[in-house]
Amino acid sequence: MYSVPEAINQLVATADKTAAIESLAVLDSLGRILAADICAAVAVPPADNSAMDGYAFCYADAVANNFKLPLSQRIAAGTAPQVLAATTVARIFTGAEIPPGADTVAMQENCSEQNGLVEVDEGVKASANVRPRGQDIQAGQTILTAGTRVRAQEMGLLSSIGIAVVEVYKPLRVAIFSTGDELVEPGMALQPGQIYNSNRATLIGLIQSLGMIPVDLGTVADSPEATNAVLIKAAEIGDIIISAGGVSVGEEDYVKDAVAKAGELNFWKVAIKPGKPLAFGQVGNKPFMGLPGNPASVFVTFMILARPFLLASQGAADTAPKFLKAQAQFAKSGEAREVYLRARLQDGVVEIYPNQSSGVLASACWGDVFVRQVSGQSIEVGDLVDVLPYAQ
Ligand code: AMP
Ligand code: MG
Repeated sequence: MYSVPEAINQLVATADKTAAIESLAVLDSLGRILAADICAAVAVPPADNSAMDGYAFCYADAVANNFKLPLSQRIAAGTAPQVLAATTVARIFTGAEIPPGADTVAMQENCSEQNGLVEVDEGVKASANVRPRGQDIQAGQTILTAGTRVRAQEMGLLSSIGIAVVEVYKPLRVAIFSTGDELVEPGMALQPGQIYNSNRATLIGLIQSLGMIPVDLGTVADSPEATNAVLIKAAEIGDIIISAGGVSVGEEDYVKDAVAKAGELNFWKVAIKPGKPLAFGQVGNKPFMGLPGNPASVFVTFMILARPFLLASQGAADTAPKFLKAQAQFAKSGEAREVYLRARLQDGVVEIYPNQSSGVLASACWGDVFVRQVSGQSIEVGDLVDVLPYAQ
């Protein structure tokens, strides 16, 4: 049996990190992974500019003239300034370029202007209110590296250096299917013995939230033939295959055997709770992950195990989960497996959903974080525990 870190390392190491590349408008790149380093061709800001509405001047000239200087030009944002005439001031506005010859801006509240003569409060410091060229980005600087996941702020940063189109990895197509004769689709009437298929929706949402494309193969009956057929189809149309259910050791669990028959099965047990029965292998040359069927197990095993694997396969450089520390408002005795408790974090204090059963999906909707309870760790009220936000 693999420990959780062993399983993650193994998965990330196995991931084929050569997804196809495409050019995409920066404005459409949210959630994508950069396929190349980004080097700035321009400085940001491109020139010294004013941080305030006020007056620009040469500080030494101001000192030599008792901080009284005549007005010689007006510079609004978006216009090119003239060289500042010696011993004069320029009216200047926020974001406007500092004229050559000026080195200081006094804010307008500290100046008075009468008949073309400007008096500046002597309290102004040399170089005040000037935003220097390149204070954000220097020309030639690498601002983002290949493997970076684009967030809104990266979209803005790319735009700030004039880039409109970026090279990103094409989103992976993740083929999914649910197994179980008991499953019926939402929108249909529930017959005796049936339950609604929730894993299908959870998986679709989780895959979409990673910027990937779910290819939904629906529900598969509990039979070796049906399981085999769907695996072959999934390997044809998906880059990666993920299933839910049917990976236990029950008589109606056909996924492991079908994977072993159609391809290769690498391991199928990870010391994680919920979610111990988990398969990883290959069908054709496509990686396969078989998640357990219980809805909360699907959520946990996807987030903890499938997510880093999918991100690595998509070319992401940083796939490590980002844990925080929070104070437990609950007590819990230690367990052999590593437990991922569905929990709610507020003001540095974390509380767990009262029912942590692998069948209780409401536990995942109640809060916004997992608490990680490592093997053998007993938790007392007030302990600092590892917390992993769902949003990463
Ligand atoms: P299995 O792993 O197939 O033995 O399923 C474990 C439990 O999860 C059983 O109670 C199933 O009925 C339930 N389950 C399996 N697949 C789904 C699904 N797609 N939606 C909701 N519950 C499921
Ligand atoms: Mg089943």
